[in-house]
Order: sequence, then structure tokens, then C-alpha cells
Amino acid sequence: MDCLFCKIVAGDIPADVVYQDEHVFAFRDIDPKAPNHILIIPKRHIATLNDLQEEDCVLVGRLQFTAQKLAQELGFAEDGYRVVMNCNENGGQTVYHIHMHLLGGRAMSWPPG
Ligand code: 5GP
Ligand code: ZN
Repeated sequence: MDCLFCKIVAGDIPADVVYQDEHVFAFRDIDPKAPNHILIIPKRHIATLNDLQEEDCVLVGRLQFTAQKLAQELGFAEDGYRVVMNCNENGGQTVYHIHMHLLGGRAMSWPPG
């Protein structure tokens, strides 16, 4: 599988891993857009949000719950944070293995650009 994030999960490409369990993997973004910028992904390859099946609902919930846990652990949960999932070209997706961006440690504006 020629997928950057699958290679990171496999350990073939190094990453600053902050969490993993049976289903979920989380690591720091190489080009952080906030003091804390973590990518939370399923270990299993799913290319885009459009490829989700109903049986993936629990998995997506695990991504979201991992974001909350990491925000608590890293100390910015109470101040606040943002989670973002980009889909396809107009959404700004550049890596085609779904990932939740967890951004914390600064105030963010709305709407995004
Ligand atoms: P997207 O634009 O697809 O929503 O987000 C992809 C993210 O992956 C970007 O924020 C980008 O900085 C990050 N990224 C791209 N290549 C690598 C890499 O090799 N290692 C890490 N840790 N992050 C990466
Ligand atoms: Zn993949």
C-alpha cells in the first residue's frame, strides 16, 4: 500500500507518536499549525471520509474520544481546541488516509479560510 500514513503506522517512516491502541494511532504533525497539532488516524487504511461505512461509526467515535483524551493529557482541554477532518480537494485533504487534526494551545478564528 503506497500510503504515507500506513507507512507511519507500520514504523517504516518515523513519527513523533503520542498515542496508539489496537485501532487508533496518533502522532505530531510534521508542519504544526498550532503549538499542539496532532493527527489522529485509524490504523486501518480508509482513504477519505466518503469511504466510511456504517460499521466504521465506532471507529470514528474512537478518533474523537482520543482527541478529547489527548487534549486533557496535554493540558489544553479546558482552554479549548479544534478538531478538523478534511475531505478531498475542496476540503484541503493532501494525505489520502483519513485523519483528525487536533489543534490546541492558541486561540483560533472562525470561519477557517
Ligand atoms: P490534510 O491536508 O490531508 O488534511 O493533512 C495532512 C497533514 O499531514 C498536514 O498537516 C501535513 O503537515 C501532515 N504531514 C504530511 N506529511 C507528513 C509526515 O511525513 N509526517 C507527519 N508527521 N505529518 C505529515
Ligand atoms: Zn493508509
